[in-house]
Order: sequence, then C-alpha cells, then structure tokens
Amino acid sequence: MALAHRAAWMRTQKPTGPCPRCGLHVQWGDRQCPHCGHQLTQADIDGIKSYISEQKALGMKRAIIWVPLMFVVLTGLFYVLI
Ligand SMILES: [Zn+2]
Repeated sequence: MALAHRAAWMRTQKPTGPCPRCGLHVQWGDRQCPHCGHQLTQADIDGIKSYISEQKALGMKRAIIWVPLMFVVLTGLFYVLI
C-alpha cells in the first residue's frame, strides 16, 4: 500500500524548510545548509520554522477536504457493488 508507506515515511522524516541562500531544503534543527554550506542565522531558522508551520496548516486543510471526499467515494462504491 503506497499511501501507508508514504505516511510512515513522512512520520520518520524531520520537517524541512528552504535554505535562504540556495533554496534547497534543510532539515529542522540543522545549523548549516548541507547543500551550499550557508550558516543558518536565528532569523533564517525562524523563517524555516514559519515555513514548516505553514506547510503543516496546508496539510491539515488538504486532509479536511480529502477525508470526507474519500468517505463519500468509498460509500458510493460500496452501494454500487452491493
Ligand atoms: Zn543552502
């Protein structure tokens, strides 16, 4: 089941945000960008932090839309098959 696998993968991954210098993602908690070597300042870290919480809020919104939709589709399928 690809979806369950992806969910497990997402749980084990640290949240990431874009490096202000190269734009590639750095892991939350990193002090230095692993891609370009940019030393992250407190302001950079705060920026990454707000990016992560934005992404989380976005994910929540998606779940709010998708969960009832999936429920409706599955219920519909159930009635079609019965
Ligand atoms: Zn970088």
